[in-house]
Amino acid sequence: MMLARARTITGPDHILTGKHMAKYACDWTGGYASAPLAVARPADTQQVAALVRLAHDTGTAVVPVGGNTGLSGATQNDGALMISLERLNTIRDLNPASRSVIAGAGVILADLHDATEPAGLKFPLTFGARGSAMIGGTLATNAGGSNVLRYGNMRALCLGLEIVTPTGEIMDLMSNLHKDNSGYDLRDLFIGSEGTLGIITAAVLKLVPAPGAYATAMVAVPDLKDALALLNQLQQATGGAVEAFEFMPRAYMQRLSELRPDLKLPLGTGYDVNILVEVGATAPRDTTPQDDGSVPITSYLEDILGEMLEAETVIDAAVARSGAQRAVMWEIREAAAEVAFSRTPLVNSDVAVPLDQVAVFLDMAHARLAQLDAEADTMTVSHLGDGNLHFTIYPGRDDAALKSAMVEIVEDVVSELRGSFSAEHGIGRSKLNSMKRRKDPVALAMMRSIKAALDPKSIMNPGKTIPDQSDAT
Ligand SMILES: Cc1cc2nc3c(=O)[nH]c(=O)nc-3n(C[C@H](O)[C@H](O)[C@H](O)COP(=O)(O)OP(=O)(O)OC[C@H]3O[C@@H](n4cnc5c(N)ncnc54)[C@H](O)[C@@H]3O)c2cc1C
Repeated sequence: MMLARARTITGPDHILTGKHMAKYACDWTGGYASAPLAVARPADTQQVAALVRLAHDTGTAVVPVGGNTGLSGATQNDGALMISLERLNTIRDLNPASRSVIAGAGVILADLHDATEPAGLKFPLTFGARGSAMIGGTLATNAGGSNVLRYGNMRALCLGLEIVTPTGEIMDLMSNLHKDNSGYDLRDLFIGSEGTLGIITAAVLKLVPAPGAYATAMVAVPDLKDALALLNQLQQATGGAVEAFEFMPRAYMQRLSELRPDLKLPLGTGYDVNILVEVGATAPRDTTPQDDGSVPITSYLEDILGEMLEAETVIDAAVARSGAQRAVMWEIREAAAEVAFSRTPLVNSDVAVPLDQVAVFLDMAHARLAQLDAEADTMTVSHLGDGNLHFTIYPGRDDAALKSAMVEIVEDVVSELRGSFSAEHGIGRSKLNSMKRRKDPVALAMMRSIKAALDPKSIMNPGKTIPDQSDAT
């Protein structure tokens, strides 16, 4: 009955059941699977709203889904109606004068990158899953990625939203304004809410001038303190034009070389602290090739690295000489999720600490983990420029109690350093216990009140983000 009504909304071809739901019924990590009632693929905002009204009337759980690349188990619910936004994939308006774009929730991030390029503009959010992740999903998780240190995360890049509320109303917050103090900031409430408060159907997003040249290098430094000095020196010299500053330790390089022998690692696998650094320049004085073929922005980077090599605060460096070499450097970094998940059992974390506390975090976490499990191994990949670490632990044995104790060690260290146990991937199901243990209780109670007020039947992505009072710690 419910599905018959849903078919009248979308047309029968766009309500998928049985084996046709396979690609939606398991997340990217393979760690979370479910048996949804059906997957609906509405064509527009009105159809999304009609489906949500139907779900509200029938008390059916709704799970919005974009590219299904999330890493927190947030898209899986047995018996839910999954609403895929994939057909809302139109770029409604590209406005170079106001440096903004209106995109449907189903626009794939890489497609948005391609669409803005001819105007000399770019939408700067980027990460390894850009070929599948969708605008609605990146907003719902407040995604970050590699360019946050220069441009901010999704919240910083969004001007306006269109939302279908849990009762099926359409809320128009499609502002193209940089200043709007008209009451509570509902836009920011929906960004990062992981589909628990409503469905994002479209957004107004900021664009930035596309760099005319990039200077990209792999750099080995003695330790993370030197890495931070390199970052600060580069920021000073370039007026804050560092786009990416990514840390990969020796363990990562070694594992990558085993998994991807086809990739040529410019600095090999022998250094403890490897940094991928990228500076982007827009001014012609920095981007125009000189008579000898050199590009000024690359020369600045080479000069700084040369000085630091002499001072022995840099041990080794390889500067990309072509687009192809730059692409390889990025491929090395963007294999991180594949590398991390290629070994099990694992305990995966996504934490943030102040920039000068990254090394302290690693030292403290390693020391405490060694006391708990002498056979535990770890691997880190970090958006070092914004203090975000993907710290993966490989326990010596597959033991649920041991893995929980490891999560708590990470949480303890993070809270001692006044960091966050959740930096950019969201809470979903995977961090509900951390939420219950670590989130300020007053903040948690307020979140529960907001959820109850907006979604009284609790149909929107139930069991995600906010732990029930009864959930185990
Ligand atoms: C290889 C790889 C690399 C990654 N690197 C990064 C990284 O560097 N930085 C980073 O932040 N993330 C990263 N991720 C995680 C992931 O890509 C992001 O979380 C992404 O934002 C999810 O987008 P999606 O469209 O796939 O969302 P989904 O996985 O489909 O959904 C994620 C959450 O958003 C909700 N949702 C989806 N669409 C909507 C909507 N329209 N309205 C309301 N709620 C919605 C879902 O219900 C779910 O709670 C990576 C993932 C992979 C696989």
